[in-house]
Amino acid sequence: MPGVQLVLRSSRVVTPEGTRAATVSVADGRITEVGPYDAPVPPGARLVDTGDDAVLPGLVDTHVHVNDPGRSEWEGFASATRAAAAGGITTLIDMPLNSLPPTTTTAHLRTKQETARPQAHIDTGFWGGAIPGNVGELRPLHEAGVFGFKCFLSPSGVEEFPQLGPRELESALTEIAGFGGLLIVHAEDPQRLAAAPQKGGPAYADFLASRPRAAENDAIDRLIALARRLEARVHVLHLSSADALPAIAGARREGVALTVETCPHFLTLAAEEVPDGATEFKCCPPIRERANQDALWRGLADGTVDCVVSDHSPCTADLKDGDFGTAWGGISSLQLGLPAVWSEARRRGHTLDDVVRWMSFGPARLAGLEGRKGAVAPGHDADFAVLAPEETFTVDPARLHHRNPVTAYAGRTLHGVVRATWLRGQPIAEGGRPLRQAGRLIERTGASA
Ligand SMILES: [Zn+2]
Repeated sequence: MPGVQLVLRSSRVVTPEGTRAATVSVADGRITEVGPYDAPVPPGARLVDTGDDAVLPGLVDTHVHVNDPGRSEWEGFASATRAAAAGGITTLIDMPLNSLPPTTTTAHLRTKQETARPQAHIDTGFWGGAIPGNVGELRPLHEAGVFGFKCFLSPSGVEEFPQLGPRELESALTEIAGFGGLLIVHAEDPQRLAAAPQKGGPAYADFLASRPRAAENDAIDRLIALARRLEARVHVLHLSSADALPAIAGARREGVALTVETCPHFLTLAAEEVPDGATEFKCCPPIRERANQDALWRGLADGTVDCVVSDHSPCTADLKDGDFGTAWGGISSLQLGLPAVWSEARRRGHTLDDVVRWMSFGPARLAGLEGRKGAVAPGHDADFAVLAPEETFTVDPARLHHRNPVTAYAGRTLHGVVRATWLRGQPIAEGGRPLRQAGRLIERTGASA
């Protein structure tokens, strides 16, 4: 057993068994022991005492659009992973679209990996993409280490990543189920969207009417039926419509392998407060009404919703043009997800243990990374976010590290200051400033390549 090199001590260590005063011992980048608060520090080991600042497992964000290569003026691996490190995230999984090429073949995956490798400040992995005509690429991508496959049922917003029609969806899911893979779905029904009024313009109410809850609800019903029939694993991305929660909960009770995520913006921002023309709030599906938000929180509290991930999907500032019909849809929150969610969670009586379950352990499990990431427990990577939970700050876009400092959270006062972030036993950010580039490329557990 390697000698302990680092001991983290805190009055609040968030472990799978609850939050307690403890010391966390680290050797060769892994946690070896979570011991008593006053455990002796082995000779030669460095002691870092965080006082009352909480020690959380580093966050795992399984929904990030890095856009690199190809649209790196929107975002890139260096800027995205610096922002993530500053925000307490230690692992991200990149979405297969908005980069050029998209991650739809193994050759494209290699291009993405070569682009990310020299830039990664945190551990970085990849989702593959399922598009019309690439069924034959899915198994090779799975074997090459992607964590699963993303598809759309309605237009994605970029022409190189078309949606799957009903027959294509069934053949992709049949193939994926055949090797025990996971399909992750942007679930909005194209007919429902086509039937909704598409007025465009600066009024948020018009935009909301153009992406009705029924589009999500119908798409999710269809996915549940298909997952049940094909005995396949399906994950619903960025759930916004709380109306779908009863169907999701029912399917899970009967044993359908269905999981679901929601996002910080659906939990903390409400349609009623979006100013007209404020297209930094545009995303698809959209931010809905306050009553819907309350219901999403109930879905988190009762365990129907598995995880909370950013869906960080930035663009250049000029593409947020004030017209909800034409502006790029996507909210940038990589650096702010933890304080945004924690601020609202504490107000609603939730604990840091809950937030860690939703933003660290839950996404790690979704990606099959449990046992490696997402918990302060022996055998896990020594990835930590050190958080001052009671401290507040006001969001200043100039202090964000993602490439285009546009954010729907500008000017908000949030609870929870990320003091430091550690990756495999090394500090990678301190006081909101990224320190070093220590990220590695990661692959699905059990990948052969
Ligand atoms: Zn997305």
